[in-house]
Amino acid sequence: MSSTLNADLHCHSTISDGTLTPEALAARAKANGVELWALTDHDEISGQQRAAAAAAAIGLPYLTGVEISVTFIHQTVHIVGLGFDPANEALQRGLVQTRGGRGQRAIEMSESLTKVGIHGAYDGALKYAGNPALISRTHFARFMVETGVCRETNEVFRKYLTEGKPGFVEHRWASLKDAVGWITGAGGVAVIAHPARYKFSANEEYALFTEFKNHGGQGVEVVTGSHSAAEYLSYADTAREFGLAASRGSDFHSPDESHTELGSLPPLPGQLTPVWDLLAQRILHPTRHDPVADAAIGH
Ligand code: AMP
Ligand code: MN
Ligand code: MN
Ligand code: MN
Repeated sequence: MSSTLNADLHCHSTISDGTLTPEALAARAKANGVELWALTDHDEISGQQRAAAAAAAIGLPYLTGVEISVTFIHQTVHIVGLGFDPANEALQRGLVQTRGGRGQRAIEMSESLTKVGIHGAYDGALKYAGNPALISRTHFARFMVETGVCRETNEVFRKYLTEGKPGFVEHRWASLKDAVGWITGAGGVAVIAHPARYKFSANEEYALFTEFKNHGGQGVEVVTGSHSAAEYLSYADTAREFGLAASRGSDFHSPDESHTELGSLPPLPGQLTPVWDLLAQRILHPTRHDPVADAAIGH
């Protein structure tokens, strides 16, 4: 397949911290010219069937997806999984375990926000969580915009929800080895999400990529909504250096909040193996001989 394929392999629905349903995202991807799509909700694959069905119904090739939260050297790292079997039990158990601490963490976040005069944040955030098991910082941020604490979600993260700020609660997610193992064990490809977002030293980043490779990881996001044009090029170099395939995804969450629209990113830089080349056998193609569609186009 071509490296200029309009693939968008990273976005979020109401199943995690996005504001659109899987069906609305499928329609939006199609309307924006996406040619290969994956829904990658945080730590949760219960939207996969809906996403795949919606994509099939509108003729959009689909890969299963997830974005797993990992703790690596005291930081949260996100690992995207693509093309796995969603019925795989070890993957399902691993995700249950990964999202398990979110409820308690949300209660602690709310308690610490109370100390700086922000009341009712747990209940407020819960109202925004389409899936209570996936209550996330994003839902707190939406509540704090609604109640006028900040003007936009970015500002809430900067002032309250990041390390060292009053609403931040340290959390232990999955290990890198487990997350990569769950994805590859289910027949999928593991991808390091938005590497430029992490605050690692050069040595720590090297350790991340080296250990990821050793555990069986095969891809890295090069072109993402979280990277600048210069970062596309520097992580293209990293992909070549580590022999990783390159992925592309907007990380779209919401029409009101996301600055990168689904399907709107530039193509991958040259001389990279697109991650979809590793996944050709895992792509769910819409039925080629749908009698209704054939009749509609006069076959
Ligand atoms: P959580 O998994 O609950 O820690 O929440 C992480 C989510 O918060 C990410 O997936 C993003 O959607 C969102 N997020 C993280 N940092 C920021 C930021 N600076 N501005 C807006 N959203 C952010
Ligand atoms: Mn998110
Ligand atoms: Mn992420
Ligand atoms: Mn994401």
